[in-house]
Amino acid sequence: MPLKNPLPFLIVILLTTACSQPVKNETSWCDQLPRADNAQLEKTQFSDYWFDVYEVQDSIFAIYEPHQVQEVISYLIIGKESALLFDTGNGIGDIKNVVDRITGLPISVLNSHSHLDHVGGNASFDFIYGMDTEFTATRKKGLPHERVAGEVSPDALCKPLPEGVVAEDHIIRPYEIDEYVADGFKIDLGNRILEVISIPGHTPDAIGLLDKENGLLWTGDTFYKGAIWLFAKETNLDAYKNSVKRLAALSPSLKHLLPAHNTPLVDPKVLIELDEALDEIERGGVKGKDSTDGRVNYTFDNFTILMNKN
Ligand SMILES: [Zn+2]
Repeated sequence: MPLKNPLPFLIVILLTTACSQPVKNETSWCDQLPRADNAQLEKTQFSDYWFDVYEVQDSIFAIYEPHQVQEVISYLIIGKESALLFDTGNGIGDIKNVVDRITGLPISVLNSHSHLDHVGGNASFDFIYGMDTEFTATRKKGLPHERVAGEVSPDALCKPLPEGVVAEDHIIRPYEIDEYVADGFKIDLGNRILEVISIPGHTPDAIGLLDKENGLLWTGDTFYKGAIWLFAKETNLDAYKNSVKRLAALSPSLKHLLPAHNTPLVDPKVLIELDEALDEIERGGVKGKDSTDGRVNYTFDNFTILMNKN
């Protein structure tokens, strides 16, 4: 989409500091939906007006918001005794209603990190795990409308908001953290054990979630197809590179990555490609393309990366 007036767009970016913005091309991102990867997935009966819901692995549901620019994906992971909701989306659609239709088991929430497009539905849930960082503590206070208005603006949407949702009323509601987690913390859902992997960088509280037995790794915003946002003030590039190296080392033992944006199943080899790509950028071996907002976009085969200009 050509930028008719770049100033409001820039303001929206500065206000939101969310995660994944497709680079706007001559063609609107809306016209490019569904993504080819997702078109092959079968939508379950739990899908509604706002969410596309896929059962991507046995008892693992990807809850995707395709019509909002972040294209965020939350995941419901169901065990024998309880379920974990990894992220709660933008807080535009009613994700509580979706997950309650999928399972009657008690549901806890854990966020991949505290950016606004991952914690939007947190306030609807009774039990929330969180990292013990200053960033987490600040973000749990919620965000007023001025900070999230861009997320529900016409530019950010491919179809009207769900019935009863009013753009002017959109906020991120505050929530409480009920139990702190840290690197190595394990959540036992019955027949499935999930391990928290601390991977600071994108934000100080960024985590991955590992299901070792099944070779699954939820990457949050540390990896998705992109553009991977690495320019926010809470992003630490050195920490991010170390975290990617840690995940890349896990890659040979994994079957699938489950990223928090764009598409829910990705080949783990991209972690090694991402690690190499970051080294290549640092060495100056790859030429980025300047974007209209003063950043630089690096395109690789399986992902793109958006950074500040040095
Ligand atoms: Zn993010």
